[in-house]
Amino acid sequence: MPWISRGLRNGIVTSTYPRKSDGYGPNFRGTVEANRSRAAIEIKAVIEACPTRAVSARDGTLALDRGKCILCGRCVEMAPEVFAFSPSFAVSARHRRSLVVPPTEEDDGSLTILREELAHRVKRLRRSVHVRHVDAGSDGSDEWEIAALTNPIYDVQRLGIFFTASPRHADLLLVTGVGSLGMIRPLQHTLEVIPRPSVVIAAGVDAISGGMLEESYASSGGVGSLVGVDVFVPGSPATPFGLLHGILMAIDLLPLSTSDSDDGPGVSQGTRRGRHSNE
Ligand code: SF4
Repeated sequence: MPWISRGLRNGIVTSTYPRKSDGYGPNFRGTVEANRSRAAIEIKAVIEACPTRAVSARDGTLALDRGKCILCGRCVEMAPEVFAFSPSFAVSARHRRSLVVPPTEEDDGSLTILREELAHRVKRLRRSVHVRHVDAGSDGSDEWEIAALTNPIYDVQRLGIFFTASPRHADLLLVTGVGSLGMIRPLQHTLEVIPRPSVVIAAGVDAISGGMLEESYASSGGVGSLVGVDVFVPGSPATPFGLLHGILMAIDLLPLSTSDSDDGPGVSQGTRRGRHSNE
């Protein structure tokens, strides 16, 4: 009985994202922002201290690669005038290079467009979308966040998004892990049997760049060298809202169903759209 009264007291806890903006508290470590205007400050020590070489400076220009950042916080501690944590989770990108901030492509203008497209994508969710997840050498943290997507808070089923055990029923391939050598063939085989056109999401820094392991005797340094990646979801691990943002971005790459054909341009069956290199 106590759980009934607790449920009545708490009411509905399910997030309404993406219909309304939602997210985490102000102290949440969603991503790291770099203040380029303050980059004149000596950051050589930070570059050397960053464990994944996510921070770099070329010709005096500061760059932070979210595809490598494991959110350890060293840069924020050492140079708080330049680096700061942000609770933002909407940092997925369709190009690997767009994860390098300050942004090279996704500036304020394109973010406005992204927000408008998000509303359009939600409208497209009139059919269900099935996701096949493959762990290609993860430490398990990303899997905890993926599992959270199905709990009452995020409840991705409300959006028509389901996880499937069979790649033959999948629209999206969600890959976590560094791309361990033992998982190369299973990963590629999974992609081969997913109906075309399929869309691949690399979730978490490990899947994007190999994280702390980078490329090694047992790791491919990310899954981009094994399969073509369409959407990159940074984070260490990627957060549930970040994953949801990336999945919504990936849905835009799926073909429109017949009933949706008046919503905008789509792709014909068998044609892969939005395939990007990992450059
Ligand atoms: S928080 Fe990210 S960018 Fe900063 S030192 Fe750690 S890994 Fe490098």
